Amino acid sequence: MDIEDIEGALQVFSRKDLQTVVTVKTVMDREGISFKDLEDYLKVLTRRIKDYNRKQAKAYKKRVEEFERQKEEWKKRTDRCPVCGEPLMLTRVRAPKGSGNVHGYRSVWYCIGESCTYEKYSKAILEDLYHEVMKREVE
Ligand SMILES: [Zn+2]
Repeated sequence: MDIEDIEGALQVFSRKDLQTVVTVKTVMDREGISFKDLEDYLKVLTRRIKDYNRKQAKAYKKRVEEFERQKEEWKKRTDRCPVCGEPLMLTRVRAPKGSGNVHGYRSVWYCIGESCTYEKYSKAILEDLYHEVMKREVE
């Protein structure tokens, strides 16, 4: 076969791809692995990747559901906004004590009400406030 025909047939593959084919073929010949064995092995690899992705997606869905469940439990227990009555959420104040945070606040209550801007800063750490709220009995 002349070079132009080979070039035409294999032009979509990079030089590196073709080098890999040569290396793989050499190893397969040495180890007695047939082309059919290679195809079967590829199917196994593909199945493993699909199984892994399916497990990851399932675990992610479970985490999201758990987060949503915790959020609902939180909403039953947390204080209500003094302005609009919606549940208050909690987030961390990231700025360390200093010019951007002169009082050294570490957490902030905020309202989830659509157009409400109520906020109340706290020096307590978020985890302590979170546990205090989640320990409350549901009325
Ligand atoms: Zn509010």
